[in-house]
Amino acid sequence: MISLWVALLTAASLFAIWRFWREEEPAPIYQRGLPDVYLDWKCEAGHVFRMRGQAEPRSCTVCGRAAYPIVRYSCPQHGDIEVSVRYAIDENRVAHASEFRVDSGRWVSGEEPLRCPRCNRVLIRKPKDPFEAAPGERRPGGG
Ligand SMILES: [Zn+2]
Ligand SMILES: [Zn+2]
Repeated sequence: MISLWVALLTAASLFAIWRFWREEEPAPIYQRGLPDVYLDWKCEAGHVFRMRGQAEPRSCTVCGRAAYPIVRYSCPQHGDIEVSVRYAIDENRVAHASEFRVDSGRWVSGEEPLRCPRCNRVLIRKPKDPFEAAPGERRPGGG
């Protein structure tokens, strides 16, 4: 009989721990959907404007060229660097950052860390970025 109580208590406490961890885990920001956040957009000619997010490129409000959302990274040596982002829609209709472009370089996929075009150091994402756009970044503990 005692062992039954022990088993029940163990199950209850495991359930409590599981619930605790579930509630602690924040939902990824990108699941809110791009239209829910305002982004800084930058066109090929360098005009910057602020508009709601969307997966497709926008037309620049000034010159009409293609504009992409920009997020800010920083090089330990050269300071802030703007990175343009392209999004792809997955089968669940969730937008994911899929390609990145440092300054006006070429587009690269997010599998490798972004590097400074001048010194080749790995760029660090600035914390206030509104997106989970973190190429090459692995969370501690895996996942
Ligand atoms: Zn423009
Ligand atoms: Zn650098």
